[in-house]
Parts: sequence; C-alpha cells; structure tokens
Amino acid sequence: MQVDHDILIIGGGMVGAALAARLASAGLSIGMVERGDKPTAPEGDYDLRISSLNVRSLELIQDGGTLLPEDRLCPFRHIEVWSQGGGGHSLFSSADSELERFGVFIENQALQHALWQRLETLSNATIYTHCSPVATLAGRGSRFVELDDGRSLSARLVVGADGARSRLRELVGIPVSTYDYHQRALIINVETELPQQDTSWQCFTPTGPLAMLPLPGHRASLVWYDEEASATVRESLDDDALTQAIERSFPARLGGITRITGRAGFPIKRQHAQRYTTNRLVLIGDAAHVVHPLAGQGLNLGLHDAASLADTILLGEDPGDARDLRRFALQRRLANQAMLTATDGFHHLFTGPEPLRRLGDLGLQLSEHLPAAKRWMMRQASGLN
Ligand SMILES: Cc1cc2nc3c(=O)[nH]c(=O)nc-3n(C[C@H](O)[C@H](O)[C@H](O)COP(=O)(O)OP(=O)(O)OC[C@H]3O[C@@H](n4cnc5c(N)ncnc54)[C@H](O)[C@@H]3O)c2cc1C
Repeated sequence: MQVDHDILIIGGGMVGAALAARLASAGLSIGMVERGDKPTAPEGDYDLRISSLNVRSLELIQDGGTLLPEDRLCPFRHIEVWSQGGGGHSLFSSADSELERFGVFIENQALQHALWQRLETLSNATIYTHCSPVATLAGRGSRFVELDDGRSLSARLVVGADGARSRLRELVGIPVSTYDYHQRALIINVETELPQQDTSWQCFTPTGPLAMLPLPGHRASLVWYDEEASATVRESLDDDALTQAIERSFPARLGGITRITGRAGFPIKRQHAQRYTTNRLVLIGDAAHVVHPLAGQGLNLGLHDAASLADTILLGEDPGDARDLRRFALQRRLANQAMLTATDGFHHLFTGPEPLRRLGDLGLQLSEHLPAAKRWMMRQASGLN
C-alpha cells in the first residue's frame, strides 16, 4: 500500500524532533506536523525554559546526527541535595560513576532549533508547520491523519509527541490520570557575582525545593517551588524586591544577584496516559506522562521513550506492529511510572508533616553513606539504569 510516510510525528517539540532526526538519519521517510513556527536560535540572554539532558538523552541526540551549540551548554558534574535545617545532605559526583559528566543544561529553544536544523539537512524528512490534526482513522496497514489546513496524510505509524495537552491523544480517546500538586515553580534567570560552575543543587524546604541550575559563566537558572498563593504574590514583585527575596531565601552559596534576566511561573501537575498505544498510534513524551520537575527528568523520560521507540522500529519489520508497540509501551510505562512515583515521594516526604520530613532527611543521609545506593541513584540520574 502507498503511504505518505513510514512514520508521521505530531508535535515538533524536543521529543518529537529528536525521534524524527533519529529515524530519518536511519533512512525512514518521516513527516513531522507542528502547529507553531519553526524555532529560531536563542541569542543574548538565556531563554527561561532550561532542561537537563542526561548521558542517555545525549546519546540519542548524537545518534540522530544533531550538533548542539557548545557555547550555550553548561555541563554538570556534581548534584548536591540537602534539606533546610541541615538534617540530610547528599553529594553526587559523576567521577564516582566513572562518567566525565552527568549531562548538560541547555535551553529548550536551543535544543529544538538544533534538532530542526538537522532535519532540514535530511531529504527524507518533511516538516509541516502551522497545522494540527482534526481527525484520525486507522486503516489496513496504515493510519490517516486529517489536518486543519485541509491536508490528509497517511503513515504506517503515527506518533503523538504533541505535549501534555495532546490533541492526538484526545482524538483517539485515551484518558489520562492527573494530580494537582497545588504548587507553582517560579523560574528566574539571573546573573550572579560568583561563577556558577558545574554543580546543580537543590535545597528541600517544607513549602517546596529551591534549585539552582548552572548556566555558562556567571549565570544561573533558579527554580523556586512554592504553594500557589505565595508563589503568585512573589511572581508579581518588581526586580529589586524579587532580588532581595532571592538573597534572603536562597542558600548563601548562590552569592549576590547582579541582574534578573527573565522569569515565569508554571503550575505543577502530574499526569499519566492510561494507555500509550492504540491501532498504529503511540504516545511519547509529555503526551504520555508529565512528572514533577523537581528531579529534572521530564524531558529525559520523553527522550528515553524516543530512543526506545526508535530501537523498536528499526529492529522490527512493520513500525505499526501491535505486538512490538505493546512491548515498547510496557517497558516504558514501568520506567516512567517508577519516576512518577519517585518524584511524588520526594515531594510528599519533604513538604509533609515533621515525622515525614525526618524520614526524608534519613533517606538523604543513607544515600550519602551507602555507596551502592548512591551509585544506583547516580546511574538513574544519568539515564544509564
Ligand atoms: C518548570 C519546569 C522545569 C522543567 N525542567 C526540566 C529539566 O530540567 N529536565 C527535564 O528533563 N525536563 C524538565 N521539564 C519537563 C520538560 O520541559 C518536558 O518534559 C518537555 O518539554 C516535554 O517535551 P515534549 O516534546 O514531549 O512536549 P512539548 O515540549 O510540550 O512539545 C510539544 C510540541 O508539540 C506541538 N504541538 C502541541 N499541540 C499540537 C497540535 N495539536 N498539533 C501540532 N503540534 C502540536 C507544540 O507546539 C510543541 O512544539 C520541566 C518542566 C517544567 C514545567
């Protein structure tokens, strides 16, 4: 049967574009549908949305032939976690796991731009911008997707990588389970007196963590998690008042703030699709699962879905084979559920009542003093488990 593409990916975000680059590099015909604009390269001040890419995610990006902009990456080699009050403290160093680094921090926009640039060099990849699916139907050996610009496309497999509010997931009626943490994350990009180097740190407080993601030079991305009401008030402070609030509440090691370059608040929710696959269709990335961002693993899980789906497709004969897709879905659901449960546990341990918080402190102390547990957690952070 004649189809337009081997694989049609809905959503050209970081996860969809990474899968597209990986599969197109291996010679498959790929279509990618994106409702927004083609991404541009970030310039000047750093974009607010920053993500960590762990070792396994970097491998997928490399396998797809994508070159990341070295000048806007910040490698990190240490992760330090402690609880306010000093009851528990843990320091993880990549050298202890014989890794050169745990990964890098990169702007979401820089990663997406690099992936699209790679796709533009591949003649077997077609990008359709400014359009979105309005209907989809599975036939024999293929699935059709009708777009809102009147076009209709067919493929042997359709992949939903269109984010947490996936339209494709809605069109095929896959329900989601959601949980609202009633928390917001205020992301603040700052320039600091001190260089921020290669340690990412996080301090747990009873109202939510305070985190610092290092960016090149004297720059950092701060993430301030808090209950909804207090976070909303803080989001409306002017730059001077916000600088003072940061200097009062963040650990002294951050040093003085010389400039706030951007900020935005995000609600925190968890979400899990009840199924990842149906006839010749599969969900990956945030379309399938949204985790609490405190462990910086949401994008990594999505890229691991993409890596695992690419392996399944490249090893099989028919990318839409139901048995292969079910095997993929089972394997990824277990990994994703484990991370959803772990981040949920961290949240409740450190924001719960005093006895629970003490248990959290004990967990941090144990992870610091049990080398096997520490190694396991480091491999988890780098995506190698
Ligand atoms: C505060 C915060 C901090 C975070 N920090 C980290 C971190 O440090 N590390 C980490 O790993 N993760 C982090 N995450 C999570 C990470 O941002 C997400 O997991 C990641 O963006 C998901 O990528 P995605 O490509 O699946 O979805 P998205 O980034 O949402 O991309 C979806 C794409 O699909 C397109 N689209 C949507 N609807 C349609 C449609 N109907 N038709 C066509 N196209 C469509 C969109 O325009 C977009 O391009 C964080 C999240 C938050 C909220």
